[in-house]
Amino acid sequence: MSCVVVAASSPRREVAPPTNVIPAPCSCLSDAISTMTGPHRNDPDSNHSQRPNALRAAWSRWSALAVLFGAIGCQALQRPDPIALPTRRAMENEHLLVRSDVKLPKNHKLLRDLDGLRDEIAETLQLPIQKQPVTVYLFSDEVRYAQYLHVRYPKLPPRRAYFVGTAKELAVYTFWGEKIQEDLRHEYTHGVLHASLQDVPLWLDEGLAEYFEVASRPAGLNRDYASRVASDFAKGWHPNLERLESLEAVGDMQKADYLESWAWVHFLLHHSDDSREVLLSYLRELQTNGKPGYLSTRLRTTIPHADERFAAHAASLSSGLVTVSDER
Ligand SMILES: [Zn+2]
Repeated sequence: MSCVVVAASSPRREVAPPTNVIPAPCSCLSDAISTMTGPHRNDPDSNHSQRPNALRAAWSRWSALAVLFGAIGCQALQRPDPIALPTRRAMENEHLLVRSDVKLPKNHKLLRDLDGLRDEIAETLQLPIQKQPVTVYLFSDEVRYAQYLHVRYPKLPPRRAYFVGTAKELAVYTFWGEKIQEDLRHEYTHGVLHASLQDVPLWLDEGLAEYFEVASRPAGLNRDYASRVASDFAKGWHPNLERLESLEAVGDMQKADYLESWAWVHFLLHHSDDSREVLLSYLRELQTNGKPGYLSTRLRTTIPHADERFAAHAASLSSGLVTVSDER
């Protein structure tokens, strides 16, 4: 799964917008794409970043094909490319457009879950009405998905899903696979955040996406992450929110950083009313100010001994001592 794709420099939504028909893979496209940075979750050990064999094969095949196209030249490639975006309208409302290769009934549980997720995010984070809809492009299989992305965004490493925010569109690209619900929830969370806020710090963007990708209850509790946090503490891990806040390039985010980002978000939302208000007030400011300073400064002003409280919260999660409210 995963990933916010942003421009290498601010503003963040500068990548070339997707089109219904892929442009020819020639140098005509390279300038626009050269501004893109790598995606998140680049740790090779991450489940989200491991390249499935079929995907790897598709990528390799498409790389060879792209070289061939390049040799032919732009002139011969002006006709529409056969790898078009999914166009079947699976869902369409003011917040969410789903274009799918797969025939989905309108009341399919995946669509209902995704539609409900927007309300869950907005209610939990007290977000305003989003300014833009998010468009989900759901390919029928990973090969077609991989071929599309490789041609449209040739510098991106293979991932199960991408969120691409541009000035014209907030788009999620993914395919029908085993992790489809988790992938859609993660990427759609990025979409809702970027549709509602001026900007989102990298660590917070990923921490919230990790939090909301969990469909099971209690809300936001990634049980695997909870146990790994406890294990890391036992090995002498020292969480460091300020270090997370210093990460600005998507390529800097490692597997452990996603875990820690999730843990801080969970702490902020569930430790106490005061910690939750630190996060909510920060998000309120992000609605009008894309550079509100560091959240850690506000946290330490509001919550004495925040690091110790964070450690206690994380430990209690893994031992089942915290009852996480479904209402939040
Ligand atoms: Zn992400």
